[in-house]
Formats: sequence, structure tokens, C-alpha cells
Amino acid sequence: MEIYKKSISELSNLLDKKSISSVEMTKYFINRINSYDSKLNSFITIDEESAEKEAKEADEIISKKKHSLLTGIPIAHKDLFSTKGTLTTCGSKMLENYIPPFNATVVEKLKKKGMVSLGKTNMDEFAMGSSNESSFFGHVKNPWNLEKVPGGSSGGSAAAVAARLVPIATGSDTGGSIRQPASFCGLTGLKPTYGSVSRYGMIAYASSLDQGGPIGKSAKDCAKIYDVIKGFDKNDPTSNKKTSLKSIDFKSHKEYAKNITIGLPKEYFSEELDENILSKAQDSIKVFKKMGFKFKDISLSSNNLSIPAYYIIASAEASSNLSRYDGVKFGYRCKNPKNLEDLYMRTRKEGFGKEVKKRIMIGAYALSSGYYDEYYIRALKIRRIIRDSFMSAFNEVDYIFAPTSPSTAFNIGEKTSNAVEMYLSDIYTTSINLAGLPAASIPVGMINDLPVGMQIIGNYFSENTILNIANSFQEETDWHKKIPGEFDNE
Ligand code: GLN
Repeated sequence: MEIYKKSISELSNLLDKKSISSVEMTKYFINRINSYDSKLNSFITIDEESAEKEAKEADEIISKKKHSLLTGIPIAHKDLFSTKGTLTTCGSKMLENYIPPFNATVVEKLKKKGMVSLGKTNMDEFAMGSSNESSFFGHVKNPWNLEKVPGGSSGGSAAAVAARLVPIATGSDTGGSIRQPASFCGLTGLKPTYGSVSRYGMIAYASSLDQGGPIGKSAKDCAKIYDVIKGFDKNDPTSNKKTSLKSIDFKSHKEYAKNITIGLPKEYFSEELDENILSKAQDSIKVFKKMGFKFKDISLSSNNLSIPAYYIIASAEASSNLSRYDGVKFGYRCKNPKNLEDLYMRTRKEGFGKEVKKRIMIGAYALSSGYYDEYYIRALKIRRIIRDSFMSAFNEVDYIFAPTSPSTAFNIGEKTSNAVEMYLSDIYTTSINLAGLPAASIPVGMINDLPVGMQIIGNYFSENTILNIANSFQEETDWHKKIPGEFDNE
């Protein structure tokens, strides 16, 4: 039946027609994980027992005809979403044994719809990274080429979906962590408007930037998840009531393309961009033009300020958020502390990895009384300038189209000793988080057997049209259907 290739609607149809039960479908994907994940390391926890239990419950609901489209469909969650009774590590030794007593809102909402959680995916420690090399549980490999990184920090989710070990997965995007791994692995990833998906129960990295969202095979699959996880949540103080609760409705491009002008920011197509990526970008623009979308050159001149501003703000917030890991309340605690100070010091020294410590130090420095104005306040001012430049761009155009990353997936180990190089791989994604805007990354081609992604950026709460534009492209092209050879069999 080639179940691994099927979209969410197709899987749902099979369940509906009783061609397969959810228990069988769950076992099928668990088998795929068991046979393939030793190559990828995309899972930290595989939850066979509870997955089977959830699948049985889903089958009962289906037999009573009380199911929704998602009932009985397997999913995996990035290991920063709290899952009641299931290990939630955030990729860190600090939380190596942490079992949350509650579900994150995202997890709870999908569970209520009857989705079956297969387990928790690997990630950069505390979501800090662009390559999935900072995980305490080892790095993740890219299914397209096992010598390459899958991108980060949601690299486990992306690798698992790309190898078709699971139909769809959740991720989080603080500075690009949904879009960049989606782009490196040939997938579609949606980073929603800040505040439209609840952060309750998502382990915090940088609270004013973090946003959860789906990583899937297509815009249509991502929409199915986004429709469920979006919406106001009183448990998240930054949750936004303006998020539309209407389901995403897909239209033919003939109905709307001619009314849409898409901006091409010249700063995103600058020298840093690999020329092969540029040529794939141009090919994809041709596809859009053929459908009737109009294009216009624009400028987002503040983009070059986004990396320094992002790394100051994200690290400042991280240094504050991560102060809770002190060995007292929960998480790792060092052995035989001599006194309270020794407990704090050794717990944090032993529990956090190098990248996390670096961020805490940068953040604490930027927030210290002597440097606060010079770094943190300045970064906040830049953040406002970046937001304003997007707002003025949206006076000229309706959407923006830009590369997701300046390169395709790079080699494992290639950038680990050069922090600046690593941070620069986020050059096209971080400004969108600083502005709080929504954006989706879609696959638009391949270079040397590695996928290339482009992002569609919209104004606040424009996910409906972003996903429509992505879907229109996917109706005209097959890039999103490509599967890495090694994993393309039953
Ligand atoms: N690579 C960026 C960072 O390390 C973004 C990570 C993310 O979006 N979680 O901060």
C-alpha cells in the first residue's frame, strides 16, 4: 500500500474505510522507526506501548464513527513539548530523566483529536543550534546524505518525516528551527505568527521568539495540524486572541493568484547566497509567475542587523529562562554537593552542554548593568527597525518570497568550530522571528541530491494565504514528493 508515502488525508481515508486500523498503521510506522532510525538518530524516545494504547483508543472512536480527520494518525513531537508521563529532555542532560506531569497545549490538542504520538524527536540542546549537533543524545543525520546535518534545532522531527518514519511532526522555531531543517530535508514547515500557537508546556528558550508549528510533507498536511494547534490559550500570557479559528481553506491558484504581488527582497538574494540556490529560486519564481502571481523587487535593508540583534535577544532571554535549572526544583542535580553554591555551580556545569553555556554567558553579559544599554536595549531598538521595515514592505507587496538558508545541508562537523559561520546560517530566518511574522518553507528543487527550500513570508495572521501559495506551488511541482532513496521502500 506504500503507506509511508501517503498524505494525512489519504491516511485518514484508509482509516475511515477500515482498509487499515490505527493499531496497524501505528505498528507500521514504529517498525519503520525500529528499522531505520539507527542510521539517523532522529528519536530520543520511542513510545511503543503508549502509542499502541492510543491507537486502540482511536480505533474504538473510529468504530463508533466519532472520529475527526486526525484520529488514529501517528505523529511525533519535538522533545521540548511536555508530554505527560513521557520523558521530555529538550536534548539536554539537564532534563535526561524529566517526566512532565502535564501535556503542552499543542500535545493536548492533538491528543484530543485522537492523534497517536509515536515518541519524541531529537533536537539541539534547549533548541539552540542550526545543525542538530548540540544534542546531549548525539547528532542527527540528514536522510538525503548521512554525512550532512539535517538542520536544527528541530532536526530530529525533520529527519524523521523526510525518511517517512512518521507522517508529520511538531517543531519549534525561535530563529528558524522549523523552516531551516524543513529546507535541508525537503519538507514543508510552518512557523506561525507569534502568539497564534500556545507556548504553554513548550520548554522555553527565548520566550518572545519561540513558536511551535508543524513540519510535514506538504502545505496541506501542515494545515491539518496548524488548524488544531492554533488559537488562544489562557495558559500562555502571550497567546493572541486575533488568531483566526477558521480552518484553512484551499483554493485553486486561478481564484486568487492574480490578486497577489510577491516581493523579492534584494538583500536576501545577495552575494552570501549560493549561486545554485539562486538559480533554483529563479526557477520557482517562474512557476509562480506562470500561475499568475506578480513579483516586485523590494528592499529589507535592515536584514543585515538581524543576526546580531537576534543572538543578543535570544541569549538574554535564554539566560533568564534557564536560571530555573539549579538542581533544586527539577532536572539534573550534581552528586554530593558541599553547600548551596556548590550545588548550583556543579549542577549547571555538569548539566548543560557547551553551546548552552555560551548562550547563557552572552545573555548574562548583555543584561549586566554595565552593558545593558549598549547591547540589550540596542538590540531591542534594532528589533523595532526590522519590524518596521517589514511593515513598510507590506505596504508595497502582499507576501515576500526568499531563500530559507544561504546553503543546502552542510557537512556534519563543518561549522561546529566556527560559531559565526554557524550563526550566519540563520541569516534569512531570524528577522521573521524578531518581527513575529508567519512564514513557511517549501522545497523548490535539488542541488547535488540535496533539497533547497524557499520561504513565503506574510503579514501577521496570514497563514491561510501562505499555505495556499505553498499548496498552489505543490500542485504544479513534485519536489515535496521526493523521498531519499535509502528510505523509499516498505
Ligand atoms: N539557530 C538558531 C539558534 O541557535 C535558531 C534556533 C531555533 O529556532 N530554535 O538560536
